[in-house]
Amino acid sequence: MTAPGVRVRAAFEGPVHHVYVHVPFCRAKCDYCDFASTAVGDAPDGALLKRFVEGVAAEWERERATHDVRRLHTLYLGGGTPSLLGPERLERMLELFRPFLTPGAEITVEANPEDVDEAFAAWAAAAPVAGGAGAGRGLRVSLGAQSFSPELREGLGRRAQADPAEAFRRLRDAGASNLSLDLMFGIPGQTAVDLEEDIAVVRALRPDHVSWYELGVASGTPLAARLEAPFVAREPAGTAASPPEGSTPLEPPGEDARADMYRRIVQALSRAGYDWYEVSNFAVPGRKARHNLAYWRAPPYLGLGPGAVSTIGGRRWTNVPDPATWAAALAAGARPPRDVEDLDEATRARERLLLAARCGARVSLAELAAILDVGAVGPLAAAGLVSLHSGTIRVTRKGRYVAGAVCVRLFRD
Ligand code: SF4
Repeated sequence: MTAPGVRVRAAFEGPVHHVYVHVPFCRAKCDYCDFASTAVGDAPDGALLKRFVEGVAAEWERERATHDVRRLHTLYLGGGTPSLLGPERLERMLELFRPFLTPGAEITVEANPEDVDEAFAAWAAAAPVAGGAGAGRGLRVSLGAQSFSPELREGLGRRAQADPAEAFRRLRDAGASNLSLDLMFGIPGQTAVDLEEDIAVVRALRPDHVSWYELGVASGTPLAARLEAPFVAREPAGTAASPPEGSTPLEPPGEDARADMYRRIVQALSRAGYDWYEVSNFAVPGRKARHNLAYWRAPPYLGLGPGAVSTIGGRRWTNVPDPATWAAALAAGARPPRDVEDLDEATRARERLLLAARCGARVSLAELAAILDVGAVGPLAAAGLVSLHSGTIRVTRKGRYVAGAVCVRLFRD
């Protein structure tokens, strides 16, 4: 039986109300990053960026018509580094979407500190959010800090060293009222004391929202190679056999230390008045990220741009990641090449549970029938990791610390 008010619907079904635009350019590639992004240096080619904005316009027109998109509740410009486009190009891009944004819609733009000059801050603070009279002003800006320690950022191989705290204050001083900070823990060389210092800066800056992710080191990245041979310095090159004088091994904190860091972040931010509403996300009242909240409930969403992923109904596709190939197809009036995956019922149910587990959302057991190991539910409930109520299941706050592992236990195979 399903509780009244609990909707039973397959994941990714329904009308599209959420759009993600992937901006696939960064000034330089960070050593830990395996996202679809191309390094374009500090003075990117204006023609390249113009082609990108034109491509987004063409792709939006095409996909909007195909999927009958009429009303957008959230628009998320991620990357890559969207702020690298600068206020004028970003504004041109937002103009494409404004007529479709509902009153009170949320627009998020990811920004890196080095792009946040006075002009960017002023634009972000004042840009209209939706079209028409009475539309609100001011974007939600998600600022990529990673850490306030220049040494730890350097250890991550982030080439740009603009001070994230200064960029944050510049946005606030300009009047930006919905600011999120992106941070990481588990950074090579990071100690408990370093973490306390980052927590102290977050408390002092008082962002509306914090995303604090555990560093995942993707294989094949320069950071992964460094960790395998920790004595090899990035510059100048050393050798594993003979470490450069004065260098120290770039060791990430161990598993127990990372678990302690995670618990400490949750504790410190909760005490500071933030709601831990998702595995890695915290918000002051009224400032949960609506785009992400929607996403974690597995709605259909449209992705635009090179490498962007869309999931609508039972189908998921990923655009070709190469910006030139993507732009050339659209300029020729064609759909960019894409990888298409048809999601079977079990995959959709599995994703539904994984996404819901991240934010403690209830899911109907009927919706999970194809994948649920019924025998695992009782022991997990007895351990306080999941809770059952009127035909629904949810991962508890205690279970959220190990949400992925809880889901794996719940899967039938
Ligand atoms: S700025 Fe972000 S997207 Fe760009 S390379 Fe660094 S981590 Fe990757």
